[in-house]
Amino acid sequence: MGMEKVVDVAIERAVGGLDQLWTYLPGPLSEYELSVGYRVLVPLGRGSATGIVLGQRPRDENDRPTLKSIRSVLDEEPVLTVALAELALWMTSRYRCYIGQTVRAMIPPGIRSGIAGRDHHPVRWQVASPNPPPKRARRQRELFEWLMTHGPCTQAEVLAASSGGEASWRALRKSGAVVAVERPPWTALFPGPTLNPEQSQAVERLADGQGVWLLEGVTGSGKTEVYLDAISAQLEQGRQALVMVPEIALTPQTVARFRERFGERVGVWHSGLSAGERVGTWQRVRRGDFPVVVGVRSAVFLPFPRLGLMVLDEEHETTYKQDEHPRYHAREVAEKRAQLEGAQVVLGSATPALETAFRARQGEIGWIRLTRRAMARELPQISVVDMREELRQGNHEMFSQKLMEALTKTLERQEQIILFLNRRGYATYIFCRDCGKALSCPHCEVTLTYHQETNRLSCHYCFFEGSPPPACPQCGSHRIRYFGAGTERVVEAVQRLWPQARVLRADRDSLTRRESHEKLWRTFSNHGADILVGTQMIAKGMDWPKVTLVGILAADVALNFPDFRSSERTFQLLVQASGRAGRGASPGQVVVQTYNPEHYAVHHALTADFDAFLNEEIQFRQMAGYPPFTQLWLLEMRSNLRLEAEKMAEAAAQSARDLRLDGVEILGPAPAPIAKVREQYRFHILIKAKPDADEKLERLAGALRTQPEVQITIDPYFML
Ligand code: ADP
Ligand code: ZN
Ligand code: ZN
Repeated sequence: MGMEKVVDVAIERAVGGLDQLWTYLPGPLSEYELSVGYRVLVPLGRGSATGIVLGQRPRDENDRPTLKSIRSVLDEEPVLTVALAELALWMTSRYRCYIGQTVRAMIPPGIRSGIAGRDHHPVRWQVASPNPPPKRARRQRELFEWLMTHGPCTQAEVLAASSGGEASWRALRKSGAVVAVERPPWTALFPGPTLNPEQSQAVERLADGQGVWLLEGVTGSGKTEVYLDAISAQLEQGRQALVMVPEIALTPQTVARFRERFGERVGVWHSGLSAGERVGTWQRVRRGDFPVVVGVRSAVFLPFPRLGLMVLDEEHETTYKQDEHPRYHAREVAEKRAQLEGAQVVLGSATPALETAFRARQGEIGWIRLTRRAMARELPQISVVDMREELRQGNHEMFSQKLMEALTKTLERQEQIILFLNRRGYATYIFCRDCGKALSCPHCEVTLTYHQETNRLSCHYCFFEGSPPPACPQCGSHRIRYFGAGTERVVEAVQRLWPQARVLRADRDSLTRRESHEKLWRTFSNHGADILVGTQMIAKGMDWPKVTLVGILAADVALNFPDFRSSERTFQLLVQASGRAGRGASPGQVVVQTYNPEHYAVHHALTADFDAFLNEEIQFRQMAGYPPFTQLWLLEMRSNLRLEAEKMAEAAAQSARDLRLDGVEILGPAPAPIAKVREQYRFHILIKAKPDADEKLERLAGALRTQPEVQITIDPYFML
């Protein structure tokens, strides 16, 4: 046996029983020096399956005496880099999912199904030297000579001119007789502004290209300029950079800023791209043709050959956590990937996640602060309005007196306004005055939202739609009333009160098509509208210098969620939303409407005093036993029979309790806050473990393995 090589393969199909690495003899892969990352067809049971090679090693005595061989190699090039293959193994164990689920998340579907990439900048080929291939390779020689006279050409051009010589062309490339034309070197094409002292210090501290850093800078402090300079430094060393943004809506703006600095070779990655565009981008990234990519969460898996820096902008945003298996957090994955590849991670935010802020203050990660707005612009003037008081004074509008006056004045000055409301639709519930019944989704235990634009009721959890009933389905009464304002109703009120104002709406209903984000951003940037009404989707990151008034219509929406992060979310939302005001030459003003002006999240947001908020929130987390003082697991059991879901949950809780794990608390089972979604009854168990209880959690995971109906989420962000 000696040094005979074997490969370890993950089967793509995610089925419980296949959830392991399978060892094979390399077969056709034995020609390859490195077999990691190739997709292969392998014999499995009586059939075959596709898999991905995640490791290669010498055969040892633990391997079965009779190993089967890889049948065939499916792609010309590997689909995972060595670091990504290792990352896949780490993720699978970290998030307690199947290896097949992990690799499927890492590789775009278009690559797996083999669709052609849409590539606007294909590689061009030229001959490596004037020496042609030997005479006996007649076809290769023809291709070579054609390329010699026709100069650098794309593969498509070569093949078109040579009528179907694909195999010969591949052989010619392998022989090294033709080579890809080198691209111009990667550098910043255009200069940026001169950095202020805080910014230059930040860039200096990042200069060694190592470690994980929190860049904590107030809104408008110029964090993006710091990223740009740090990236320039990486490019000069021939390394690539990834900039992650939390929301597809932010990509057009961020891409525009990066293109201003780095030219057209800034790649884009988000779910709005067609499958072909994604394949094209993915391929260009793999061959090192995109020095910089701006993308959403899943960009963390792009196959950069020489990754130097990953930026997570607005790192506190919960969109970085994936809601289905593998339930990864892009911050954690980025940090692991950086460790594997010797890259740097920069986490940027004005309101870091509590966990991140805490790690920085404990010295676990680097910490850089930007305390002032760039260009010495003041932070906006914030005032709070107690809406209970407004009601008492007989104001039943959704705008307080103060906000109405500010709106009128801002419109007169021809400046722009953003109004936030974290609820879409027109009315958030419909209520019968006689029997008191609220109309809820027939498939979920949530109230239906009324959308006036389409005159439909819709469920925001299962997408059920129906017409509003003329009478109460319960008692037949016609006294049906619409309660709770959504963004549509805000637009209606604005149009009624300020008929001359031009209004845009930005929420998940109005931004459905893939160009709509970009269009919205351009229209509002060019002052094509005076007022933008939207959900938190627009609260983050946007830089519109003409916006001088921000109105937050209901600061409390998030506070009432049964989630231990609800104060943190509220604080972040208020500060981020306020940060959209006064980013240009004119000073900004923010009006916050609330029913809870005393709450510490609201109170500290008014002064944007992150440290004060942090101190109170840390105390709460410590006292109540939440992260970062515990590790949290959420177990979920579902069934379309309530009793069955409950039984499964009780069984899971029992098997967890039977282990008698010290330092591991098992809470529940209890019905989930939203007890039914899409006909599925849901039960939750919350596991709280001491930070050092890893080994005990390992035992718990082992015990739960026999109950595949239990869905485990490590470090849950969606507790409803
Ligand atoms: P952040 O990302 O921290 O919210 P930005 O990087 O968007 O802040 O900067 C806010 C505004 O200030 C932008 O319009 C940006 O172009 C400008 N800016 C930032 N740094 C400088 C600088 N050193 N000189 C001139 N303008 C700057
Ligand atoms: Zn009724
Ligand atoms: Zn529903």
